[in-house]
Amino acid sequence: MRIEDIRTRLLAGGAKAIHEQRVLRAWVNAQPIGSGPHKAEDFLPLALRNDLPALSAELQALARLRSEHPGEDGSARLLVELADGQTVESVLLPRDGLCVSTQVGCAVGCVFCMTGRDGLLRQLGSAEIVAQVVLARTRRFVKKVVFMGMGEPAHNLDNVLEAIDLLGTAGGIGHKNLVFSTVGDHRVFERLPQGRVKPALALSLHTTKADLRAELLPRAPRIHPAELIERGERYARATGYPIQYQWTLIDGVNDGDDELEAIVRLLAGKYAIMNMIPYNTVPELAFRRPDWARATQIARSLHQRGVLTKLRNSAGQDVDGGCGQLRAREMAKGRE
Ligand code: SF4
Repeated sequence: MRIEDIRTRLLAGGAKAIHEQRVLRAWVNAQPIGSGPHKAEDFLPLALRNDLPALSAELQALARLRSEHPGEDGSARLLVELADGQTVESVLLPRDGLCVSTQVGCAVGCVFCMTGRDGLLRQLGSAEIVAQVVLARTRRFVKKVVFMGMGEPAHNLDNVLEAIDLLGTAGGIGHKNLVFSTVGDHRVFERLPQGRVKPALALSLHTTKADLRAELLPRAPRIHPAELIERGERYARATGYPIQYQWTLIDGVNDGDDELEAIVRLLAGKYAIMNMIPYNTVPELAFRRPDWARATQIARSLHQRGVLTKLRNSAGQDVDGGCGQLRAREMAKGRE
């Protein structure tokens, strides 16, 4: 379901723009429509009022909690069931953040990611993306949403941008607290600046070498890392938010001194933050996590050389590692 479908249905029930806004605002803020000082539903057209129970039930069924896996760092992974029984993961992050999924599966096929192993199963509709925020808001306050869960947002661009528009307006989330995360795609650089809600941008870089990047991210668009950074820099200057570069640090793959030299050459002086995230080792894949001392040394050295660098543990690591694992485990159980 897309947000556009909800609007069409409201219109069919006789809703005017003000009614539509009330209903959508109540939904995206996880409030019952009749709540608040004005008993808003009393003012809705009769046909729409009669349709509200059915519509509310359908909206609730868009994203249901299948299981919750709290971590020690204040995060919690949620396995979310969609109306057709498919599942995706959302992560409640420390400091009122939420990470949402944009696709079931993913076509980019990053070799270090569990989500990419089965390819793309289906797109999420914009309403299903927002429904993950609504579900999270029934459990916690959410003031930041990052599109870094399962899927590549650039491959589902219309739905993701529609969700961003609603979250940044009726959803009350500050535009720089909506973070569009991508491996890099020309369409992203064309479309993002055109929206009335301009999100912050995270670019998954992982290496400065074009050939290694093609190996690690086999079906990402072939944009040279240097060009990606140039285009990112233009977006950062236009919006006033720094680009967040994501770098999954993998032992013996992209943690060498040659990479560090190239990062300094490309990123020093740029309006950017480098997020280094040591890879979470999983039994199914051959990659290894670098030791923490090496990761700390890399982050410190980049920082000293003019690249604002943050070393991060991926949230929820102690409850089972990277994105896609809860779903993979659940699917395996189903096959037993
Ligand atoms: Fe897709 Fe992201 Fe996994 Fe790559 S890391 S396969 S882009 S979900």
